[in-house]
Amino acid sequence: MEAQVHTASPLAPAWLDVPADLNALSSAIWAGDVQRGSSGELTIDGIPVSELKKQFGTPLFVMSEPDFRNRARAFKDAFDEAFKDICGGVDVYYAGKSFLCTAVAAWVADEGLRLDTCSGGELAVAARAGIPGRDLSLHGNNKSDAEINRALDMGVGRIVVDSVDELDRVAAIASQRGDAAKVMLRLTPGVHAHTHEFIATAHEDQKFGLSMAEDSTDQAGLSAAEQAVAAATAHKGIELLGLHCHIGSQIFEPDGFALAAEKLLVFLAAMQEKYGIALPELDLGGGYGIAYTPVDTPRPPAEIAAAMASVVRSTCTRLGITAPRISIEPGRAIVGSTTFTLYEVGTLKTVRVDAPAGDGAGNDAGAANVTYPRRYVSVDGGMSDNARPVLYDADYSAVLASRSSVAAPQLSRVVGKHCESGDIVVRDVYLPEDVAAGDLLAVPGTGAYCWALSSNYNYLARPGIVAVRNGAARLIVRGETEEDLLNRDMGVAND
Ligand SMILES: *Cc1c(COP(=O)(O)O)cnc(C)c1O
Repeated sequence: MEAQVHTASPLAPAWLDVPADLNALSSAIWAGDVQRGSSGELTIDGIPVSELKKQFGTPLFVMSEPDFRNRARAFKDAFDEAFKDICGGVDVYYAGKSFLCTAVAAWVADEGLRLDTCSGGELAVAARAGIPGRDLSLHGNNKSDAEINRALDMGVGRIVVDSVDELDRVAAIASQRGDAAKVMLRLTPGVHAHTHEFIATAHEDQKFGLSMAEDSTDQAGLSAAEQAVAAATAHKGIELLGLHCHIGSQIFEPDGFALAAEKLLVFLAAMQEKYGIALPELDLGGGYGIAYTPVDTPRPPAEIAAAMASVVRSTCTRLGITAPRISIEPGRAIVGSTTFTLYEVGTLKTVRVDAPAGDGAGNDAGAANVTYPRRYVSVDGGMSDNARPVLYDADYSAVLASRSSVAAPQLSRVVGKHCESGDIVVRDVYLPEDVAAGDLLAVPGTGAYCWALSSNYNYLARPGIVAVRNGAARLIVRGETEEDLLNRDMGVAND
């Protein structure tokens, strides 16, 4: 049979091509063990999605455990290799905020990574998973005294301090305990990385971090970053390990990371010299991008590691300093692509829409009544299990999962069941025109910041997560029940 060529809908964004085969799965977007079985149904490590639906219901997050482990190990191995001659290797902290449960925390430790937390709750998960405190870091711009105490109780390897104010608080709490807190200072190097470019600015107008720009409010004109170094050096309750930065998220080009590394090394060398101290550690944060759609082009970890190592090496040589021990904090790049969300299709409707002006489809502005179809495909979840399209205008893709189809592609919009017109899961995707109620749909790339940001909006129960390994699926977080939803409701007062 000859493949039919279909033209793009004028309603589709310019980046979205009509796929040659709607049944194909791009290996850049899907976990390695997701495939179409001989019947055409989507399978993960041989398990058909209809089985998962039968056993666990929908919506459901479906995660590949080997894929998670492979990606975690890939970061560790690539960065160790690139930095072994510079600082003996790299400490990789998985950013737990992207997705965390005890099973995942245990895999992280198994693969030789450490764990980055940013709240008492995340510390509790780490403790339950049996991660030793020395392999943990604690972040956050507004840590409570209770969280600081908990970190000290657990012997957390480093508290990443975000402001001069917080430094004083950590110092006071630690001294009171007769302790010294191991601290890194989070700096804002003025490098803002975007997906395709980065911009450098002198001043920082955001809640995170200590600015490296000269501060007119300080009598000596010291930057907030230097004020913190000076204060940390003076405090008995602080053991200053080094410096930290995190320049953004979903970044593809390594240039931004390299520029930030250079700026921090220059500052680190200056502080060592001026204050006669050693700053043995430098953390360069996370933010490595993944593929959500066919146009995203993430770099392999080895390529990013090599670019960063080259800058760290040359900058340390130029400054004549011993390279600090480097660490990184990837979250999305480890967990994002390991997971897809399985939904059941419900209501379908097609609307006709005017083409945007200048669409190149011969639909000149003013041409009468030329409209194009857009199909709305409603699924049984939505913004409560994936808030990223609403929060960040994030793009995703989707495929028909319960079967394959040779029907023609139709420009579709996958939407949820919430009471918001912005409740969109996939804004633009070509799906087979025979998609019908009862079909299963799968949305890949939902491992990071989806379950983690989930809510009970409209009293929907948050979905569970199954991990698949060796042809078997097990729940690592069970889905909520209606009872869970009503549990905290204290009822109608009778008196
Ligand atoms: C969010 C965050 C990360 C992880 O970011 P990803 O984009 O998921 O890699 C790492 N470090 C800090 C400080 C963060 O806030």
